[in-house]
Amino acid sequence: AKVNGRKQTCFYNPTMSRDLARRREIEAELRSAIQKNELSIFFQPIVDLATGRIRTFEALVRWFHPEKGELRPDEFIPVAEETGVIVTLGNWITAQAAKAAVQWPEDVTVAVNLSPLQIKAPGAALGIKNALREAGLAPERLELEVTESLLLDDNYATEAFIEDLSQIGVRFALDDFGTGYSSLGYIQKYPFKKIKVDRSFVSGPNVGKKTDAIIRAVAELGSKLEMDIVAEGLETIEQVRTVREAGCTLGQGYYFSRAVPDYLAAMLLAQEAGA
Ligand code: C2E
Ligand code: CA
Ligand code: CA
Ligand code: CA
Repeated sequence: AKVNGRKQTCFYNPTMSRDLARRREIEAELRSAIQKNELSIFFQPIVDLATGRIRTFEALVRWFHPEKGELRPDEFIPVAEETGVIVTLGNWITAQAAKAAVQWPEDVTVAVNLSPLQIKAPGAALGIKNALREAGLAPERLELEVTESLLLDDNYATEAFIEDLSQIGVRFALDDFGTGYSSLGYIQKYPFKKIKVDRSFVSGPNVGKKTDAIIRAVAELGSKLEMDIVAEGLETIEQVRTVREAGCTLGQGYYFSRAVPDYLAAMLLAQEAGA
């Protein structure tokens, strides 16, 4: 990533230098954002497509900046990764997610996104275990979402991390499936409980007969290997019907709900319990 930063000096480009300045600013402020209480975790439901019930909430970080307003994770997570802040931030996110999840019914799990750097950091598995212990959350109720790019440079540290945590019951999900260097080898090698089919297969310019066939094939693979297949980015009832028809077991997207603060997540669950 640093190499890319240097390439930009070839031409004078006002947009780029503005971007760079913004990144530097974000970097400096990110370090103190946790202490200043500017970050919070929102939760987006992942719904059982057969019953309509919430099975999981995915934890998604939000930054409410006093001047810049709400910053999207796509804007600051990469900066946090480049600077290493992601390790501290990631542990904080996992801890917050675990604290929220202990309040929910026992059959509802929480999913946390992991960055590659977090896994490779020394004591990475320990950070997760500490978060579980401090919150008093059973490991089976935590899911860790990893992407193919994370597995791309899989090495001993990655294997040990996944092995170690799977052993105590933590589940792993393969996120953004189909966007990267999809390798069935990863599914073979690692004990994934879940595959999340990227939203580009559900909506957008590329959706058609081909994507439908791909979703069907992935869903069939999932049922044979006893993995849940999640369709991401469901915005319409038609999309929900299509992916359910194709064999996906779980769905996530604005059709069901956006990511909401923890008290609203708890309310959604209470409503279900009452229904
Ligand atoms: P992701 O893991 O693929 O998360 C799903 C993203 O899609 C979220 O955006 C979510 O709000 C959005 N989304 C959900 N349903 C729909 C829908 O129906 N339509 C559309 N258009 N979008 C939908 P968000 O929260 O902005 O997060 C973006 C990415 O930032 C995430 O992608 C994830 O890679 C990263 N991220 C978010 N929170 C964390 C975190 O706590 N830790 C790490 N390491 N990365 C995070
Ligand atoms: Ca995710
Ligand atoms: Ca995803
Ligand atoms: Ca994504």
